[in-house]
Amino acid sequence: GIVLGIESSCDETAAALVTTDRRIVAQRIASQDAEHAPFGGVVPEIAARAHADRLAPMVEAVMREGGLELHELDAIAATAGPGLIGGVMVGLVTAKALAMAGEVPLIAVNHLEGHALSPRLADPSLAFPYALLLVSGGHCQILRVEGLGRYRRLATTIDDALGEAFDKTAKILGLGFPGGPAVERLAREGDPRAVPLPRPLVGSGEPHFSFAGLKSAVLRARESGRYRDADIAASFQQAALDCVVDRLALALDAMEPVPALVVAGGVAANRAIRGALEELAEGRGLRFVAPPPALCTDNAAMIAWAGCERIGQSDPLDIAARPRWPLDPGAEPVRGAGY
Ligand code: ATP
Ligand code: MG
Ligand code: FE
Repeated sequence: GIVLGIESSCDETAAALVTTDRRIVAQRIASQDAEHAPFGGVVPEIAARAHADRLAPMVEAVMREGGLELHELDAIAATAGPGLIGGVMVGLVTAKALAMAGEVPLIAVNHLEGHALSPRLADPSLAFPYALLLVSGGHCQILRVEGLGRYRRLATTIDDALGEAFDKTAKILGLGFPGGPAVERLAREGDPRAVPLPRPLVGSGEPHFSFAGLKSAVLRARESGRYRDADIAASFQQAALDCVVDRLALALDAMEPVPALVVAGGVAANRAIRGALEELAEGRGLRFVAPPPALCTDNAAMIAWAGCERIGQSDPLDIAARPRWPLDPGAEPVRGAGY
């Protein structure tokens, strides 16, 4: 089978064709970094307009490259949330119109499920269940992925997501937006022990995350004028990494055993974090799986793949876009967590 995937939940407009045997037949992605950079973050209204301008020609391009007509698709999968509502609506409405025109099933995909299943697109041998660290611009969670649509959340952040902490650190250091890759690059030239920074919640009894205090400490360190920017970046990355490893170790102890540790989401592109997780996995005799960086940050191949996993299902054409859509609706609410 073959599925068209559409992604527009944040500031990447993307379309891709993916087969059920894991071949990415065609893909296009347009980032809006240039549009949002002057504002230091994603402006929802600008994002929605950019998606509306770019998506249709992009779909046309991947269909042409794949040599396919709409009716030859087995499904059209689009992100239906969570995310910025304007952008999600652009993608979902486009998918509905295409599904109607081609008389093809529509599959409304949870963007987080796209991230969560992306490692299975990258690695055919990755079976359920697995432990998942989902770290992106808006989310920071530890989940036990038990099967398609079966996600048990063990931890979340009580304030900022990890990608958000990278972006705020980048802003403090004047590195521009998006910040994650820039902080990683600068950190390579710095000493991770140079700046004393806190490790929020490390050692606490539940595996949740907190990064707001770390960000404030980065700001104080910068304003003190006592440290090199590269040392601040390296020390921040080390502190973040120590938090992730400590929290994940606790969550792995608490969950029913799994054979594999998996990382996904935009921050999973970070090499230092990948390295630390690989070490953690090795120490526990777990397989470690991380998708290639281009599959970690937002893309449409992961949405098409989630559609491939759900092939045979379909959603009604009046399905609504959902700005909030938890992967594990049964998870206990966490004080302070907006996620
Ligand atoms: P969500 O998936 O929660 O809705 P999102 O879609 O904005 O949020 P992604 O595109 O998955 O998030 O990830 C973007 C985030 O990943 C940004 O915060 C970015 O700074 C971060 N990021 C990307 N590359 C790196 C890297 N190399 N190191 C650290 N962070 C990174
Ligand atoms: Mg982005
Ligand atoms: Fe994302």
